[in-house]
Amino acid sequence: MWTCKTTWKKLAPLARTCSTLCRQNARRTVLNSDRRLPMVTQAHMSSGTPGSGGDNNLYYLLVGATCIAGGFYAYRTIKGDQERYNERMNEIASRANKVAEQAETYLPEEPRGDEAVETPEETSPEVTAEEPEGPPVELEAEIAEEAPVADLALEEVVEMPCAPTQSEPSPVAESPPAETAEPQTTTVTESAADPATDEPTNVPPPAPVEFPSHAPYLLIGGGTASFAAARSIRARDPGARVLIITDEPDLPYMRPPLSKELWFSDDPGVVDTLRFKQWNGKERSIYFQPPSFYVSPQDLEKVENGGVAVLTGKKVVHMDVRGNKVTLSDNTEISYDKCLIATGGVPRNLQVIERAGEEVTKRTTLFRKVEDFKALNKVSRDTKSITIIGGGFLGSELACALGRRSADSDLEVIQMFPEKGNMGKVLPEYLSNWTTAKVRSEGVRVITEALVKGVSFKDGKVEIKLKDGRVVKTDHIVAAVGLEPSVELAKSAGLEVDSDFGGYRVNAELQARSNIWVAGDAACFYDIRLGRRRVEHHDHAVVSGRLAGENMTGANKPYWHQSMFWSDLGPDVGYEAIGIVDSSLPTVGVFAKATAKDTPKAATEKSGTGIRSESETEGTASSTATSSTPAPPPEPQQKDDYGKGVIFYLRDKVVVGIVLWNVFNRMPIARKIIKDGEEHADLNEVAKLFNIHED
Ligand SMILES: Cc1cc2nc3c(=O)[nH]c(=O)nc-3n(C[C@H](O)[C@H](O)[C@H](O)COP(=O)(O)OP(=O)(O)OC[C@H]3O[C@@H](n4cnc5c(N)ncnc54)[C@H](O)[C@@H]3O)c2cc1C
Repeated sequence: MWTCKTTWKKLAPLARTCSTLCRQNARRTVLNSDRRLPMVTQAHMSSGTPGSGGDNNLYYLLVGATCIAGGFYAYRTIKGDQERYNERMNEIASRANKVAEQAETYLPEEPRGDEAVETPEETSPEVTAEEPEGPPVELEAEIAEEAPVADLALEEVVEMPCAPTQSEPSPVAESPPAETAEPQTTTVTESAADPATDEPTNVPPPAPVEFPSHAPYLLIGGGTASFAAARSIRARDPGARVLIITDEPDLPYMRPPLSKELWFSDDPGVVDTLRFKQWNGKERSIYFQPPSFYVSPQDLEKVENGGVAVLTGKKVVHMDVRGNKVTLSDNTEISYDKCLIATGGVPRNLQVIERAGEEVTKRTTLFRKVEDFKALNKVSRDTKSITIIGGGFLGSELACALGRRSADSDLEVIQMFPEKGNMGKVLPEYLSNWTTAKVRSEGVRVITEALVKGVSFKDGKVEIKLKDGRVVKTDHIVAAVGLEPSVELAKSAGLEVDSDFGGYRVNAELQARSNIWVAGDAACFYDIRLGRRRVEHHDHAVVSGRLAGENMTGANKPYWHQSMFWSDLGPDVGYEAIGIVDSSLPTVGVFAKATAKDTPKAATEKSGTGIRSESETEGTASSTATSSTPAPPPEPQQKDDYGKGVIFYLRDKVVVGIVLWNVFNRMPIARKIIKDGEEHADLNEVAKLFNIHED
């Protein structure tokens, strides 16, 4: 039937040509003989050229020739089709082999249970659901301030019975698991077993399934905010299928230890285990959860109770917000119902380094990821001199960490920055100077007021020229000069990027437009107390990610959290900060003598937590002393001993930021002061709320 149809299609034009010719001849005959045609057969009509009987002979000749040509054409066509049919059969027969070969190249990082027998696969430890993980399950870095989600144990998440979802579930999420997962394997099996099937089809074989083509919840970025969102989605929608896509090769992990505890570990294998001792001595991993927590991406659509899958090493390069789908760098498309953008940011570099050529750039580390920690750790053992450019929290933490390491080696550690002292953009000058002295005491050569003018590579050394003529020679540079929020998707998605702070502008519910939320470092949100902001804090990533996740399941909650951040210059000195902490604002500092209890180490020992935002509780905040006449900011009481204290940052006489210097676990009080937004006549009185004198 199929063959006849094809042949007819090919002969049809020929037949149409004949018929047209006949009709034209007939019309000409009528016109020329000026008479009406009698009732004759069509053959007579069409063959008759005006004039003689010889005309009919010509007509027969023409028809005969046409028939022979038509017959020959039909024969060729049928034969050609037969050959193509045979080729197709052969191709189908060989398809099973091809699929098996492809499976070796693309297929999943983990075994797929019963399907594994049909397609040989390589396995990767990252997302293997069944793989038993050595260390016990880690609990996530969380603050227990708001949602009950934070308390949800890992086992509960994974083994939660399938429950009706609160969000609008996608058709895929609801389809029976067996059906969604089947097509790939079925096709392979059939073609392999029965290559000479009677029903050849023109449908190409589907590519091996590496990940689902649809995710009800799609989270772009595999960092802290995404992980927090995944957990809260699962807590509110226990059957949810959540797909995290990250361009990093790792499962979600926390970044703060990369510049702190990991450097102080006495385990030589720390770069491989990425396990570290918290200041309080407890051991934990930087990963939020072990691989066994996650479902494999290719199983996401079929696992009974849903789960969280992570697609590692894949970058989202395009968003089609009308079509509700994203495109990955390898051109694959994944559609979604709800999408979170939690892309964080990438470290900035200095233009003078970028322009300095390959020899310099390959000796430069931009510090953000696990690989950067591993690379810098190696550099610190293989080279003689490392220079950190940047005086913020990251640069100062790394300087202290490397400085400590230099005590037992001949490593030279230099830190340089344009400010007068470490963390000069955050801390008031006296405290910044004190911090610089502290960093120097860790063995770091600190060069202040250093503006880098040029960088070059000469005689096996990196040469850094400063604006004032000083030259520093070193082996390796760490550029810790800030973060650029990752907003590459803004263009294709048509999302607004804030021109002042960078980051995607979101509304109070952290939504950038329908079905799209943004959380973490990449979000520029509206803070009802302090105006529009974008912050780069672990705590903000956790809480905004969690809230975005809740809102993706329909909670519709506003983001009113005042996030905090912390920084430790090793185990002995640390600070926690909240609100706008900008040293260009007027500040008031109230200090007391520190005791052995006032260190990050002691604080974590006391609270039993490693990540400081975890230890926060709202309950301890009491009301503050208030007054309508602000007092002039007092000078710090102890000029040389800033053991511990509270620094208030004022805008229009109202406290907009607070640094707790070696004062720990009092953040809820600070948060309340900022939230109240009142003028205080005597900030010494307010400082008493933090009990800095009593402890
Ligand atoms: C070394 C270090 C120490 C820190 N210490 C502290 C601290 O002590 N206290 C504190 O409060 N904060 C600290 N921070 C900041 C804190 O870690 C960040 O604020 C937090 O990680 C932000 O989380 P996020 O999820 O928004 O972004 P990230 O954690 O950066 O995660 C974003 C992820 O998305 C991926 N991604 C980006 N674009 C794409 C794309 N198109 N497709 C797929 N994947 C993509 C990125 O590769 C990344 O994995 C520190 C940061 C660093 C680097």
